[in-house]
Amino acid sequence: MPELPEVETIRRGISPAMTQASVDEIIIRQSKLRYPVPSHLAKELTGARILSVRRRAKYLIIPTTANKSLIIHLGMSGKLSITSHASPQKKHDHIDLILNNGTLIRYNDPRRFGFWQWESDPEQLGYIARLGPEPTPEAFFLEEFMAQLARRKAAIKQVIMDNQVVVGVGNIYANESLFAAGISPKRSACSLSADEVHKLHQAIIRVISKAVDVGGTTLKDFYSADGSPGYFAQELMVYGRLNAPCMVCQTPIEAIVLGQRRSFYCPNCQQ
Ligand SMILES: [Zn+2]
Repeated sequence: MPELPEVETIRRGISPAMTQASVDEIIIRQSKLRYPVPSHLAKELTGARILSVRRRAKYLIIPTTANKSLIIHLGMSGKLSITSHASPQKKHDHIDLILNNGTLIRYNDPRRFGFWQWESDPEQLGYIARLGPEPTPEAFFLEEFMAQLARRKAAIKQVIMDNQVVVGVGNIYANESLFAAGISPKRSACSLSADEVHKLHQAIIRVISKAVDVGGTTLKDFYSADGSPGYFAQELMVYGRLNAPCMVCQTPIEAIVLGQRRSFYCPNCQQ
């Protein structure tokens, strides 16, 4: 599943080709995505100019001169690639956006859990308005985070993966942030000391910004064969390392299931 850093990399990859371009044509081969592609999208988007390509959590928000924005979510398996008019169509290529600068933005999604919506006020939509802050120093404030954790008895790992607390902390990043902060994933959120909350806050910002940076290095490959940046081969300290020695203290990494997701941790480094 594409996580926030992958979506940000895709945004950076498609933004130069899309911004200020006009839509010559939109070809919808399959409208049955997670939500149906709106039937009036093609008529209203054709001829409009794209103003920018923004991102909020894992939603790409693309405002246009039609006074509406395209909202794209990649779901489990969605991919956006930049290609040219001549490139052969493959299985699961559901939507093509043909721009007046010769670029073709192609949406491929085998499992069809992604969606394309067309809305006049995206920030006011419930699923976007309810989101917590982006995991950046400019948006994610320690005091607010501390207050959120103090109210929650659930395991800290589940609380940081709640996108109303902070967005973008998927399973891999939750595991890695807790390791970096030296906190056991099983701890009740409200049991963390002020110092631990501070360390975890810093760790979340650092782990995700590092993944975004690693993604940036894949951008040069964005125009490659399938045009997608794929998953980032960043160094993982605990995720997927069951029984392997901790990179800090050599203790074998353990795993438990929390909220149906596997959690990897070092029983010595994380208390
Ligand atoms: Zn350790």
